[in-house]
Amino acid sequence: MPHPPQLTDQFGRRITYLRISVTDRCDLRCVYCMAADVQFVPHRSLLTLEEISRIGRAFVSLGVKKIRITGGEPLTRKNVAELFRQLGRLESLGELTLTTNGTQLPRFAETLYGAGVRRVNISIDSLHATRFRDITRTGTLQRTLDGIDAALAAGLKVKLNAVVLKNRNHDEVTDLATFALARDMDISFIEEMPLGLIDEHDRAEAYYSSNQVLADLRQSYPLLPTTESSGGPSRYFRIPGRASRIGFISPHSHNFCDQCNRVRLTAEGRLLLCLGQEHSVDLRRVVRANPTSDDVLQQAIVEAMKIKPRGHEFDLSTKPVIFRHMNATGG
Ligand code: SAM
Ligand code: SF4
Repeated sequence: MPHPPQLTDQFGRRITYLRISVTDRCDLRCVYCMAADVQFVPHRSLLTLEEISRIGRAFVSLGVKKIRITGGEPLTRKNVAELFRQLGRLESLGELTLTTNGTQLPRFAETLYGAGVRRVNISIDSLHATRFRDITRTGTLQRTLDGIDAALAAGLKVKLNAVVLKNRNHDEVTDLATFALARDMDISFIEEMPLGLIDEHDRAEAYYSSNQVLADLRQSYPLLPTTESSGGPSRYFRIPGRASRIGFISPHSHNFCDQCNRVRLTAEGRLLLCLGQEHSVDLRRVVRANPTSDDVLQQAIVEAMKIKPRGHEFDLSTKPVIFRHMNATGG
């Protein structure tokens, strides 16, 4: 019997999770994610939606079970609903999901559900309108709140993501958790990662560790560790009697690379083997050179796994070594 296809790297890690950035553009300008005067890549450099769909299909044929659509803001990419429909039809794909800032969800939530999406991550760092505006530079809190409501009304399970910055929103972690608990939503608190140069704040000074967040939350809630996983880097805690899980994504304080099961496709078609390293393969070149056959594409993906590095080496005491911003990487 032939073995079912699977992608494995040189450290024996199985790669079952693909994150696809469909655009580096965004309707917000979060201070930790991009510079105020960000330059986006020219439209002509982007993969077409057909090319993204083709690459997604090739990964699924190689054993990938989970695809997350992200960006930039994925729901600002023109005709993105069609991509969700195409990927949602892939039979051996276990989960199709997305990460979004929520602003477009009132328009998209039902379409996403119809395409087979069942869970969505929505980013929200503050429940105060002025703070929300400061952190996102251009955002309106109510639009993201409306997006959360629309997702829940459409039947989507919501997980919130909050990047915690010292002296910016660290005093809000309990309020954010309470907001999530009241709606049976999960929430993950994220340590800021040194991706790309920013001059708005000093990332080392803004560092607020997951352990500090946990200690703050424990003033109000009895958090018990679990071994649960949603297939991503979050470590989860539970509160007895509550449906929500409280997660921590802690690239600095709890390196998650040993269990890494994922790779990322940038909007320009670069397959990034690690969030915190530059190892990559140009899949746009491969799909364009081989428009009718997927054999070479599949082979390129299998070969790419050989250069997946052991892990990231984030260090807040030095200048970033990764010059890509998170919107260019696909968070
Ligand atoms: N625009 C969508 C959103 O904000 O959810 C999707 C893309 S965004 C790059 C994905 C996630 O990355 C968001 O939860 C965001 O807060 C997070 N993020 C962006 N820059 C980050 C950084 N430097 N460190 C840690 N998380 C970051
Ligand atoms: Fe846009 Fe998401 Fe980056 Fe904020 S974190 S600027 S919403 S891509």
